[in-house]
Amino acid sequence: MTHKGSCHCGDVTFEVEGDIGKVLECNCSHCSRKGLLLWFVPQAAVHNDTPEHHMGTYTFNKHVIQHHFCLRCGAQPFAEAKDAKGKPTVAVNVRCLEGVEIADLQRTPFDGRSL
Ligand SMILES: [Zn+2]
Repeated sequence: MTHKGSCHCGDVTFEVEGDIGKVLECNCSHCSRKGLLLWFVPQAAVHNDTPEHHMGTYTFNKHVIQHHFCLRCGAQPFAEAKDAKGKPTVAVNVRCLEGVEIADLQRTPFDGRSL
């Protein structure tokens, strides 16, 4: 199914194709501060026509993940990176998707703090 996503103010909007399976709850310094719950999808599953000037990008540590956030409201709807095989991948923050019951999702803890 198609999931509609956005930041809080609506300057960033996007759609994701697919069924949400497990979501990853990472304990690293970045994810824990933002409360991210991540669903990983191939980049081709995401349609994003947000004007570039509405999005900021934050990187840290090895600077291999581009964390995109809304320049107006600060919400982080997704991040972009490459998976272990080098394929473009998007980590969608399911908290920014419409109609998703967060409590019903199966969370997989990820020890990002130890990386
Ligand atoms: Zn916004």
